[in-house]
Amino acid sequence: MKMTARMEKLPPYLFLELDRIVAEKQAQGYDMINLGIGDPDQPTPPYIVSALQEAAANPANHRYPDYWGSVAFRRAMSEWYQRRFSIALDPLSEVVGLIGSKEGIAHLTWAMAGPGDVVLVPDPSYPVYSTQAILAGAEVYPLPLTAERQFLPDFRDIPEEILRRAKMLWVNYPNNPTGAVASLDFYREVVHLCREYDILLCSDLAYAEIGFDGYQAPSVLQIPEARDIAIEFYSLSKPFNMTGWRIAAAVGNRDAVRALGTLKSHLDSGAFTAVQDAAIVALTRDPYPVFTEQNRLYQERRDIVLRALHEMNLDVFTPLSTFYVWFSTPQQMTSSEASRYFVEQAQVVLAPGAAYGRAGEGWLRISLTTATDRLVEAMQRMKRAMSQLA
Ligand SMILES: *Cc1c(COP(=O)(O)O)cnc(C)c1O
Repeated sequence: MKMTARMEKLPPYLFLELDRIVAEKQAQGYDMINLGIGDPDQPTPPYIVSALQEAAANPANHRYPDYWGSVAFRRAMSEWYQRRFSIALDPLSEVVGLIGSKEGIAHLTWAMAGPGDVVLVPDPSYPVYSTQAILAGAEVYPLPLTAERQFLPDFRDIPEEILRRAKMLWVNYPNNPTGAVASLDFYREVVHLCREYDILLCSDLAYAEIGFDGYQAPSVLQIPEARDIAIEFYSLSKPFNMTGWRIAAAVGNRDAVRALGTLKSHLDSGAFTAVQDAAIVALTRDPYPVFTEQNRLYQERRDIVLRALHEMNLDVFTPLSTFYVWFSTPQQMTSSEASRYFVEQAQVVLAPGAAYGRAGEGWLRISLTTATDRLVEAMQRMKRAMSQLA
């Protein structure tokens, strides 16, 4: 069967070959440790699960949800932004509920960009920003993130002609895959640029609540003028170990919120209202005990990994947030060569940096969402494999 031509424009899925090798190894009886996937291993807190159980039994929740998210959910999100970032959001015009951020990120692109338009996308990055721009027929202009600049883009490098055609600019801090963070000064700079060129600034705040050594990520909406041109994605997936639940919101600029909500009303019928009810409990009951415990666990794992990679003499970026550790491949290997090497020689699966864009070449990503004893075992195996290289 022949698919539509735009499907052929999608870049090859780099994990495919790796997935095949891993499946083959597993079939041969090898004990593989997968550090490639970023998906919390801990369960959703029990009080949130109970809230869902109760809400699922309510017949009112069995009918179609509100397309834009229930008023109660949008109000809870607005109150959370007030409490967390001291930002006042109007729940009806500045908040739209989503079936996970990924859904909103994809659909916002369809609402904002098409043929002739440019979408400015960090490289490396979460692949959805660029793949959706490609599907929508827009042009992707990559913004390289380099270690020299702490993985923040250099806007001075963007040609004037590109800025004039740009409709969207993506930022994602705390950053997947590098673990880098952004300051309010950085946000001020990017808000200024987007206002000057009338570009929708899209901030993906998926890792908002993860922080080590006391770090707490800011929101781009803390910049007073941001609301003129910025929309932000806040997901419950990572903070509350709820990736399977599919619940998030987009908040900020009303025109962008309205465009996304309008497009969605033609596409889906919103998240299950019972899931929204449980999300309200997550956002309303004091969440800091959950965040504190999660951060303690991720920081312990981060430190295990950092120590091991330093002992291997690899070039590592120390993250203050996210559950990723980004480090250079050994001996100038490409990221595919290196991930393959560790699969073969250590039975450890790592994400190749090139899967996140050209500028990710030469890097690997370790995810910290694996049981701590398995992570320790993986580091021992990698050390052994590294000593064979020398
Ligand atoms: C995990 C992740 C998301 C996806 O979040 P969902 O709300 O589960 O769809 C979005 N952006 C980045 C950068 C992520 O790593």
